[in-house]
Amino acid sequence: MALADPETTRRLLVCPRCRSGLTDTTGGLNCTVSTCAYRSPGAFPMAGRWPVLVDFERSVVDCGEAVRTADRTDTARPGPAGGADALPALLRRVFKPPNRIAAQNVDLLLRSLPGPAPTLLVVGGATVGNGVNAAYHDPRVQVIGFDIVGSPVTQFIADAHQIPLPSASVDAVLVQAVLEHVLDPHLVVAEIHRVLKGGGLVYAETPFLQQVHAGAHDFTRFTASGHRYLFRRFEELAAGPVAGPGTQLLWSVDHLVRGLTRSALAGRAVRGLMFWLRALDRLVPPEYATDDASALFFLGRRSDRELTAQEIVAYYRGAQVSA
Ligand SMILES: [Zn+2]
Repeated sequence: MALADPETTRRLLVCPRCRSGLTDTTGGLNCTVSTCAYRSPGAFPMAGRWPVLVDFERSVVDCGEAVRTADRTDTARPGPAGGADALPALLRRVFKPPNRIAAQNVDLLLRSLPGPAPTLLVVGGATVGNGVNAAYHDPRVQVIGFDIVGSPVTQFIADAHQIPLPSASVDAVLVQAVLEHVLDPHLVVAEIHRVLKGGGLVYAETPFLQQVHAGAHDFTRFTASGHRYLFRRFEELAAGPVAGPGTQLLWSVDHLVRGLTRSALAGRAVRGLMFWLRALDRLVPPEYATDDASALFFLGRRSDRELTAQEIVAYYRGAQVSA
């Protein structure tokens, strides 16, 4: 696992409010600027071994909850994996097939990274996403991860709306199945653009036609054009569906059964029986899949030029013909 060491990461961190330097104090960190709201000792507390670098006045992250959650994470013994990860290999492939699109794109991203020790920032990285394992096992790459909770694969707790890193400080960003969970995805992508070095790379996967997941923390969906516009200050290297309408239908059947039976277990059981629907994705041409995707990906390079309104309308690649 090529996680950046804590010392290297600590040297990079800045105040999420004013982006000034930080100083270590008993019980946490604080901003070094006398006029900053976070100048008092321990203004950014430690949650277990994770510094909580959150502008609490402007975030959904609750300071006390972050500390309590991290205490549980820090003292928890490694237990059995939950959800689909706990299933035997064959069933796991039925319920959670490997994400080959992510694996291909992460491979392309890793091969495009410059220098001897490029940094890869994982936004919302409390768990290692499906198909992105290679990013954590490339000995050349220094992985820096953060999320709103502590995790063995993150070095600090932060809110993606105010990333506590200096501008132009990382070589690449991975943001997989995260942008639907933030209140203002355009602001988060602006932050990703800010922390990337010139020519830096981003890989994003975001749901399009998916049911609500993570309950109260699920806010937004994107069409292919909407996703492209979200990354309007990036040059596109590749983009398209992660999973098509067969996968989308499979999840819809699951949720229809959940609604009819009031049972998530019954929904999952029917999804297990109808797993073959996913295979229909292969029969759907890309232009149709673009209009009906379960999720979309975007691999791009940081640019100083922004797509115009005309360009985003011309960008449409779906199967529908304008009247
Ligand atoms: Zn500050």
